Amino acid sequence: MNDPTVADLKKVELHLHLEGAAPPAFMRDLAAEKGMDLSSVIDGDTYVYTDFPAFLAAYEAVCAALETPDDYRRLTRAVLEQSRDQGVVYTELFVAPTITGTSTDDWADYLAGMEAGADEVPEVECRFISTAVRHLGPELARRAAEVTVANLSPRLTGWGMGGNESLFAPADFAPAFDIAREAGLGLTTHAGEVEGPDSVRDSLDALRPARIGHGVRAIEDPALVDRLAEEGIVLEVNPGSNLRLDVYPTLDDHPIDRLLRAGVPVTVSTDDPPYFATTMRDEYTELNRVFGWTRETFDAVNRVALNAAFCDDATRSRLMTHFEETAP
Ligand SMILES: [Zn+2]
Repeated sequence: MNDPTVADLKKVELHLHLEGAAPPAFMRDLAAEKGMDLSSVIDGDTYVYTDFPAFLAAYEAVCAALETPDDYRRLTRAVLEQSRDQGVVYTELFVAPTITGTSTDDWADYLAGMEAGADEVPEVECRFISTAVRHLGPELARRAAEVTVANLSPRLTGWGMGGNESLFAPADFAPAFDIAREAGLGLTTHAGEVEGPDSVRDSLDALRPARIGHGVRAIEDPALVDRLAEEGIVLEVNPGSNLRLDVYPTLDDHPIDRLLRAGVPVTVSTDDPPYFATTMRDEYTELNRVFGWTRETFDAVNRVALNAAFCDDATRSRLMTHFEETAP
């Protein structure tokens, strides 16, 4: 049953946070150029932390080394080179107009830096999803949406929300999502990771996204699972992230395979891979080992992901050939 060659398949990744994907060696070198020492949070090729508060502290310490638009150009390039080396042909990166703390003043410059970085790795087709940070509140989310639609770039095609799921209600963010929807952006939001099925249902009702980031705890409500399948709501599932943050104890307990079998459109991503000691190759290897997912399963999952991608149809058709050639 085990097929190690699934790791070599071409891949589509829809859920990847730009700063959370920063290769540790790249960040160590960037920090050293600025006279900053990150040795307390970077050990070799991994970020080190003991528990969830320490994870957030490490993330913050690392992000402090990212200061200028050119730092973001270099970061985007390093992240996309990492994706390329994992066999990813298309990826969407979560980026945030609140990048410099709570100010959005210089966003256009930062976005131009990210576009330049993406130009340097043409092997990976890339799109950006501008995001609100939920725990910063509805007012800043609305401002982030306004800044986003006033500064669109060729690759900025989506709008989403991350951050602490336990704060505020999805409906509080409807004005921000309405601004993004009216501008024609694809919509996604984190839900059903820390919080249960109600968070997914409330997000669908209030924000009307095409996709849900995580969404795995929908499995606790069979009626919601049916709804996701019927409405074709795509889940951006990050199994390794869920294990590392203790949403599930082992992959055997993880619902991704049950959701797939229930007809829910699931996809596979890595969230913040170096923080969670995972890669896309590792995710594919583990899904094959634990659930017996075959090359055909992965090709089908990647077709689902590409159909749900926030890109133009010409790009979609061109990339789809990767997943039709090996289909049965
Ligand atoms: Zn995420």
